Amino acid sequence: MSVIRTFTHDSVTGVKVGKYNLADNSTVHMFCLGETVIDTGPPNDQKAVARFFKGRPVRQILLTHHHEDHSGNAAFLSRMTGAPVYAHPAGFDLLREGFSIRMYQKVFWGSTPRVSPEPLAKAVATDGGHTLVPIHTPGHSPDHVCFWEPDRKWLFTGDLFLAPRVRMFRADEDLTGHLKSLKAVLDYDVETLFCAHKGVVADGHRMLEKKLTYYLELIHKVRGLHDEGHSPTEITRTLFGKKGLVGYISCNHMSSENLVRQCLTCTLT
Ligand SMILES: [Zn+2]
Repeated sequence: MSVIRTFTHDSVTGVKVGKYNLADNSTVHMFCLGETVIDTGPPNDQKAVARFFKGRPVRQILLTHHHEDHSGNAAFLSRMTGAPVYAHPAGFDLLREGFSIRMYQKVFWGSTPRVSPEPLAKAVATDGGHTLVPIHTPGHSPDHVCFWEPDRKWLFTGDLFLAPRVRMFRADEDLTGHLKSLKAVLDYDVETLFCAHKGVVADGHRMLEKKLTYYLELIHKVRGLHDEGHSPTEITRTLFGKKGLVGYISCNHMSSENLVRQCLTCTLT
C-alpha cells in the first residue's frame, strides 16, 4: 500500500510518499531544487525517503513547518547527508524538544524525532541559480513558511493551499492567520504552486485567490446562519453534512466544525 512516486517539473524534482494511498492528504510531497530539499516527509516513510536520497547529495534542508508529515525525516536526512536543517524560529521549541501527536497522526505519519534547526536566511540560494525567499505564513501553524522563487514565479506552499475549498480544519488552526497569509502571498508574482499534498498546481495565483474568496464567502454564510440562531454543530451539518470518518478517527482534531468555529471567531473578514 505504500506510495513512492518521483516526478520532475522544470528543475524541481519531487517525491511523493505515504503509507496509505487514500485522499491527497494521506500522501506528502518533498521537493528538491538541486541539492536543496523542501520538507522531509513523515517518519513512517523513512525507508522510502532513504531509498530516494541514497547517493543523492543534499546541501540544505528547508522546512515549511513543524508538523510530523513535513519535519518527520529532518533529523534522519540531516544525519544521512550531513546537511543542516532550516526552519522558522516559531517552530524551534517544538522541533528541538519534541511534540506529542494523536493516535491517528501516529498511524498515518509517525512521531517526529527531535531536530535542531537553524533560522532561515532572508533569501536562500540554491543550485541552478535559483533563490528561495521564505515568506512567513502563519495560520495552519504559527511557524508556517512558504518559499517563493521570483524568477520562475514558483511558490512552495507547504500546507497553505491544499485545495481551493477545504472542508476541515485542525483544532489548532487559525483562520485569521490563514486569511492574512493568503493576502500576503497574493502580493507576490506567482504562477505555479508546489503544494505538499496536491503536488504541482498550475495557475497558482488564481487558485490562491479562489481559496481566499471561498473562505470569505464561507465566513459570510456561517455568520448568517449563526445570526439566525443556529449552533456551530447545526451550521456544520447544514454546510458540510454529517461528521465524516476523519472527524471520528481524529476525535475531532480534524473536522468541519473546527472550520465553522473559526469562521465565527475570525477577526479579519
Ligand atoms: Zn501541516
